[in-house]
Amino acid sequence: MLSESYPEFNTSTFRLAVAQFEEAADHLGLDPRLRERLKLPQRTLIVSVPIRMDDGSVKVYEGYRVQHDTALGPSKGGVRFHPEVHLGEVAALAMWMTWKSALVGLPYGGAKGGVRVAPEKLSLAELERLTRRYTAEIAPLIGPDEDIPAPDVGTNAQIMAWMMDTYSQQVGYAVPGVVTGKPLSIGGSLGREDATGRGVVEVIGEALKRLNMKMAEATAVVQGFGNVGMHSAKILHQAGTKVLAVSDAKGGIYNAGGLDIPALISRYHSKTRPLGDCEIGKEISNEELLQLPCTVLVPAALSEQITIRNAAKLRCRILAEGANGPTTLEADHILEERNIFIIPDILANSGGVIVSYFEWVQDIQKYFWTEQDIRDRLRNIITSAFQRTVEFADSRKVSMRMAALMSGIDKTAQAHLARGLYP
Ligand code: NAD
Repeated sequence: MLSESYPEFNTSTFRLAVAQFEEAADHLGLDPRLRERLKLPQRTLIVSVPIRMDDGSVKVYEGYRVQHDTALGPSKGGVRFHPEVHLGEVAALAMWMTWKSALVGLPYGGAKGGVRVAPEKLSLAELERLTRRYTAEIAPLIGPDEDIPAPDVGTNAQIMAWMMDTYSQQVGYAVPGVVTGKPLSIGGSLGREDATGRGVVEVIGEALKRLNMKMAEATAVVQGFGNVGMHSAKILHQAGTKVLAVSDAKGGIYNAGGLDIPALISRYHSKTRPLGDCEIGKEISNEELLQLPCTVLVPAALSEQITIRNAAKLRCRILAEGANGPTTLEADHILEERNIFIIPDILANSGGVIVSYFEWVQDIQKYFWTEQDIRDRLRNIITSAFQRTVEFADSRKVSMRMAALMSGIDKTAQAHLARGLYP
């Protein structure tokens, strides 16, 4: 048993990622010599991150960087600052990054990083010191040709700027390509901020076409109102879809006639106020929100939100997974039996890594593209990945999730077989 040999990875998220991998590997008849290699990360780094607090005391936080695979190129993946970050969760997220990049055809392997910290409890100066020390600790692993971090839960463009600066100070010159999701002023890309949400909406559009529905006829519910959730809601609203409800960690709001998303965003931003105080809709709990009747449900918060407890109660026709790993294995089988069309996470939220790839290419070429270029190229890549996944699912008679995982795993396996085993 994997969890017995590697107790440090033993979390429900890692077990979910491995169980998905095993199922996909069985369907593929994956070469047994590759199974063990692909199930575990290639490299794992655990770091202690000591920082001086504003009151003069010193606190030590635990951080990680995990590189799951580098057969196809440098590894790529976000950095999460959250009080429940765990090595096993980071390892699972790194594995999903490998399959995601391979599925959409990017020249990357998968990685992920994190620090177990509640960033909202730190002052800005403490957050900067934490970010810089974490970056210095993982510096031996990262670099534009080695491993390229990006924002994830609890991190943003400012944190990427501090990471870029810390790495650049160490090597002695500016290295914009070491992270993506940076501010535009230091080599960030137009269109990166809303890329994941835009990608989510592109694939929702493709799924609606299969149901012979238009965006303007659909209704949507979004769990999570951070980078992915807020931009998904905003772009759905722009496309004419009624967004009935949204939520954050503190709870949600609901309006049967559709929320005024632009007004909500401006009030929410002029915060720091809870969604419920924005006077845009009725308060609703996260549990109730997931069970609202709608065309599309977009989980865009944390993993394992749709479980055996609530899967039978979902009343959506399409589940577009903005978050990574929002659905447990048991829930997945229930949703499949109920014929809910799932756009799996590694496909639905791949817009983030696709535009991160554009940012990295622009930084290396030192030649920057227009926002329209970015949007057009994102649409081409993500909608063709959607079509390939649908065709694969139909031809192999597997679910959309299995089709996406099998495509990503197979591409990674082909690279390993071509390269061989060193030495
Ligand atoms: P974020 O920190 O910007 O936002 C997270 C949101 O989820 C916040 O609104 C938070 O309040 C809310 N939340 C937290 N716990 C919740 C709970 N129990 N119930 C409801 N809401 C809750 O993070 P993000 O970057 O938007 O990431 C969200 C998800 O999308 C994560 O799973 C992440 O891995 C995934 N993802 C992000 C990107 C990206 O580009 N940022 C790309 C791909 C996937």
